[in-house]
Amino acid sequence: MNFGTVLVVEDEPAIRRYVVGVLEAQGSRVRAAESGEVALETLGGNAVDIALVDLGLPGIDGLTLIRRIRTWSSVPIIVLTSRDTVEDKVAALDAGADDYLTKPFAEEELVARMRALLRRTAKEEHDPTLQFGDLEIDSARHLVHLNGELLKFTPKEYDLLEAMARNPGKLLTHQWLLQKVWGVGYATESTYLRVYMRQLRRKLGDDSDHPRWIMTETGLGYRWLPPSEK
Ligand code: CA
Repeated sequence: MNFGTVLVVEDEPAIRRYVVGVLEAQGSRVRAAESGEVALETLGGNAVDIALVDLGLPGIDGLTLIRRIRTWSSVPIIVLTSRDTVEDKVAALDAGADDYLTKPFAEEELVARMRALLRRTAKEEHDPTLQFGDLEIDSARHLVHLNGELLKFTPKEYDLLEAMARNPGKLLTHQWLLQKVWGVGYATESTYLRVYMRQLRRKLGDDSDHPRWIMTETGLGYRWLPPSEK
């Protein structure tokens, strides 16, 4: 798959070469940057379709870079990280990254994540009806049908369901979901989320161990699984 123009921000030459090689072999045009400063310069002068950003960079770090990019651009961003603490990933996602890959990663994994992210951002149409197999969510009337049967949700349950279903495949952090559904003052009320998520799963007949729709990303958040990635 050709990803268009890809910005690769990575200071380690071996990893940079590897990623650039993989992407060029896919037919993509690659702009490589070894620092955040160079990345900002590149972004200033070139249209980029997707960016891969290493978190540990000399000069301005990856997190700061993402925050700066997000002040003017909604380009899809995947973070490349060798730090594997949950806090680092949450910080990157909250800064505006769309997803992350932990180093070392396989070529297939990189390509699959990029493809999923681009497919999702390309499809941000505003059809009031969302369809996931036999599950239908009617955003205009706030009605949810599973196998043709109407499911009853409280308003907050419905809002949570829709917030996820509107962002299939994307890792949605606890903070993002809480702010989206309950409001800015609720960003740390993780208990709410757990309770509501359990209710949603029960009503949808979803199983957290073998999820069909809602996947838990331990310590980070949740993903609504798009049909094609099951
Ligand atoms: Ca690095």
